Amino acid sequence: MYFTPPLARLIEEFQKFPGVGPKSAQRMAFFVLNMSTQDVANLSRVLVDAKDKVKHCSNCFHLSANDPCEICTNDKRDIKTICVVADSRDVISLEKTLEYRGSYHVLNGLISPLEGRGPEQLRVRELLQRTGSQEPKEIILAINPTIEGDATVLYLSSLLKPLSIKITRIAFGLPVGSDLEFADEVTLTRALEGRREV
Ligand code: ZN
Repeated sequence: MYFTPPLARLIEEFQKFPGVGPKSAQRMAFFVLNMSTQDVANLSRVLVDAKDKVKHCSNCFHLSANDPCEICTNDKRDIKTICVVADSRDVISLEKTLEYRGSYHVLNGLISPLEGRGPEQLRVRELLQRTGSQEPKEIILAINPTIEGDATVLYLSSLLKPLSIKITRIAFGLPVGSDLEFADEVTLTRALEGRREV
């Protein structure tokens, strides 16, 4: 199949997105070509703008256009509780429950020997620094029950337990391998309430 070069390039770019195969990439490219010139210009501006303005909060590493982020600067949040998550999407999922009123710490992934990601690539050092300055009473590990998740929980609890802080992990009433990102609010609220000490 032959696509004229600019169209082929557009398809190629869309195919780099996670979960987008050649068929979907073609659909997206054709969709863009059917958009008005103004809408396409707007889309490209939105892309550059998001990349430009969205950064990591220097305290909790949640994605935010403000540093520190809206959660870290909210004085109604309880800084004596830190909820540790793999990435920013998990923060959004937990915020949707409206149950959690503590602070967060985004690790930026999980320990994965297969993908060559060790603790030094995660924001573990920063978590320890915060633990020192913020003196939390409880650290909640809201980490998926996967091999990587379990390895990360094991590693973190071995570091944090000697500091005599209560370490808990949220209880998934879900099958192993299920994803925090896709859990609905009710399930997540229950998981949070049913957290257990590790
Ligand atoms: Zn923050």
